Amino acid sequence: MIKYDLIVVGAGILGTSHALQAARLGKKVLLLEKDNYPTGATVRNFGQVVPSGLSGRWQRYGQRSVELYKEIQAEFDITVRANGSVYVASDEEEWQLAQEAEVLFRQKDYPIQLLNQEDTLLQHPYLQPSYVKGSVYFPEDVSVEPDRLVHRLIQYLQQKYEVIYLPNTAVLDCVPAAAGVEVVTARREKYFGSRLLVCSGGEFRLLFPEIFASSGLVVSKLQMLQTSALPQIKLACNILTGLTLRRYESFEECPSFARLTTPSHYQELKKWGIHLLFKQATDGSVIIGDSHEYAPADRVDELGFDVKEYINELILREAERIVTFPVRGMARSWAGYYAQHPDDILELEPAPGLHIITGIGGKGMTSSLGYAEERVQEWFGTSAGTPGTTST
Ligand SMILES: Cc1cc2nc3c(=O)[nH]c(=O)nc-3n(C[C@H](O)[C@H](O)[C@H](O)COP(=O)(O)OP(=O)(O)OC[C@H]3O[C@@H](n4cnc5c(N)ncnc54)[C@H](O)[C@@H]3O)c2cc1C
Repeated sequence: MIKYDLIVVGAGILGTSHALQAARLGKKVLLLEKDNYPTGATVRNFGQVVPSGLSGRWQRYGQRSVELYKEIQAEFDITVRANGSVYVASDEEEWQLAQEAEVLFRQKDYPIQLLNQEDTLLQHPYLQPSYVKGSVYFPEDVSVEPDRLVHRLIQYLQQKYEVIYLPNTAVLDCVPAAAGVEVVTARREKYFGSRLLVCSGGEFRLLFPEIFASSGLVVSKLQMLQTSALPQIKLACNILTGLTLRRYESFEECPSFARLTTPSHYQELKKWGIHLLFKQATDGSVIIGDSHEYAPADRVDELGFDVKEYINELILREAERIVTFPVRGMARSWAGYYAQHPDDILELEPAPGLHIITGIGGKGMTSSLGYAEERVQEWFGTSAGTPGTTST
């Protein structure tokens, strides 16, 4: 039987990032995915890669991920566009946050540009003048196409690093064995690795159900909408808004964040965890979202599979306050689900060499590659070995 250096269960962005980072170190890697292709949070998101929204080590991982995304894009098209993000302030409190953010990000050496109302409208003529007080622009943020990125990344690691990828392969058991871990699939095939990593996203029933039930993991359900192609408009970059300034962790460090009040027109939006983001896909359509409803890991079913018309209407009404282009011509609407953990991520090692990592929350597209690089280096050291050799 082949012995892999690392077996990764789950080919979402978190699992795929670990597979890639181990392969970059010359490790022999097997990536297993239960579905015909990944259909989880990784393909249902905006594709906004925004270190600007994160703080602490996550911002660092985000910046490293951007470097790696660009590096890979230079040799293989994984849909990365270096276009930046703008956060638009709509009232005095948000404008104050934006100005404080400029000072903070300069101290952190993450490029930022403060734009007054006039300049914001000049650069973003599709914004409603009545909404805009000013904005902050982060030129280093990037965007990717969520429906294609992970598939292209998997192709890249198969072609360049000879990672073995097996879709349609649900793992039903992980058994500690001498000097490693054995996995058993639904078809009763067995694979053996020196290390095993489970990145199963929000799937808590197939593996380790008792661990997940008491883990503190929570699942968030997000509603998303996508217009049909709008060839008449061209969004310059990722568009984030006043509600995002009030929500993302990087802005919590601003001195006035603790004094924020909630204007009455935000009350109902806050109740559903709505903040408005816009991302134009390469086909000209615009992805608009999102909302947040929550349930504990062992009661995820309570979130339902339906898309609530009431929430979509709240999102669209706020969108109409922000942009001038038509947002009602929806091509589709969907619900995405991601797992999150109070410690920012769940990292467990229930047996030697058997790792469970999930619950990266709403930052997985931004920070997984950088985060995975650090984990894999902890496990294997930093120098590349000879491809195809085992580590034991
Ligand atoms: C609507 C929405 C918008 C978002 N927007 C952004 C954004 O703009 N920017 C950003 O940075 N982040 C965003 N996020 C967050 C980001 O999408 C997630 O953090 C990330 O995709 C989580 O990746 P994951 O690999 O942990 O999970 P997943 O993508 O869910 O992948 C887990 C995979 O594991 C597989 N699996 C599970 N169990 C098994 C098993 N037993 N055997 C084999 N395979 C298994 C599943 O089939 C799945 O493919 C958004 C999320 C959502 C839902």
